[in-house]
Amino acid sequence: MTPASTPPAPTSVDEVIALVRAHAGPLAAERVALDEALGRVLRETVTAPEDQPPFDRSAMDGFAVRLDDDSTVFRIVERIRAGEWRPRELEWGQAVQIATGGALPGDGLQVVIKEETSVEGDRLTVHRRGPERCIRFRGEDARAGWTLVAAGTRLLPGTLGLLAGIGHPQPLVSRRPRVLHLVTGNEIVPPERTPETGQIRDSNSTLVRAFLAQWGIAPEQLRAPEERAAARAEIRNSESDQPPWNLLLISGGASVGPHDFTASLLEELGFVLHVRRTTTRPGKPMLFGSRAEALAFGLPGNPLAHFVCLNLYVRQAIDAFSGLAPRSGFVPGRLAVEFLDAPNPRETLWPARLAPGVDGTGLTPLPWRSSGDLTALATANALVRIPPHTGGLAAGAVVEYLATSPDA
Ligand code: AMP
Ligand code: MG
Repeated sequence: MTPASTPPAPTSVDEVIALVRAHAGPLAAERVALDEALGRVLRETVTAPEDQPPFDRSAMDGFAVRLDDDSTVFRIVERIRAGEWRPRELEWGQAVQIATGGALPGDGLQVVIKEETSVEGDRLTVHRRGPERCIRFRGEDARAGWTLVAAGTRLLPGTLGLLAGIGHPQPLVSRRPRVLHLVTGNEIVPPERTPETGQIRDSNSTLVRAFLAQWGIAPEQLRAPEERAAARAEIRNSESDQPPWNLLLISGGASVGPHDFTASLLEELGFVLHVRRTTTRPGKPMLFGSRAEALAFGLPGNPLAHFVCLNLYVRQAIDAFSGLAPRSGFVPGRLAVEFLDAPNPRETLWPARLAPGVDGTGLTPLPWRSSGDLTALATANALVRIPPHTGGLAAGAVVEYLATSPDA
């Protein structure tokens, strides 16, 4: 065991991700209405309760006639609108007008499409008749009992439409984590306020809220008093609420300055710290700890570092809470332009704009000057992984990147 006085070694991106995944597990499951379920992860396997479609339906607007009837002139004996079902045995020379989606009146039929016919009163003349029956047969999409959505699937708009279509209005999904966010820093003022010299506007509270809103999570946010004992009392106070929070995020104070109390605060609260700093830029001072089921992050106050740590690490915790299988999220892509930077001994997570190019993907690294520089976040939708000691990379070079937005 490492003695407490020995500074722990800095941790790499992959190690931090592995540590987060090792300490985070799926939260309890609950049934929610479909309108509450977007983006949640399914915790049951959903099978088709009946054949899909459940009855033979017309695929087109037209006329149902017997398949074995090669007449060209028919008498229209019935008109069926979508939503109606009037079973009947058709005789030779009889046709039933039917709308798209209408239930076929019987078996052994073909729908002749309207465009290939002409009608005068109840007399139907068929001009052309192809081999296509224009029927969506019962069970052709799925048979009763087939698996339609596997456990572990993230529910997207299309999945929700499918669940509605099969009559599964209360899917079993992972509960959303309860998140407590504490923002620290004597210098920060709310975005509405004009800062005095030395003060800066609090951008991190908004960033954290918007980041979590992507999963429908609304954090409780506290402005921490500039004093550890008072901050601790506020957190302890919120711990009496039920259900207990699953994730504690503390913005700022993660480093070693005289007022940086996040590490000791977390330890006083009973968290075991697994990460104290990382080998990456931005985001070097970063704390990650666990206490029973709860996780905590101390995020460096600089806004760009915040953005990086939220997307790289906090996202892993959210995925684990929802029961998604571990994956780093990094995928290969290509630089759209040449990349130039002074070689840096640390791995860099570089904000970039990903726009689909002719040959797959095109990543444009965006300029940033320091981890306090928010300007790149105007358009960043990805983080490119620049290995340590990298100077230039040619346009077209293959890199790893992490999408930070669904449009990347
Ligand atoms: P800290 O991690 O507390 O040492 O803060 C590092 C830098 O981030 C300092 O320049 C802070 O002023 C800045 N910072 C801290 N909190 C925020 C915040 N909520 N919004 C914007 N910048 C912040
Ligand atoms: Mg601070």
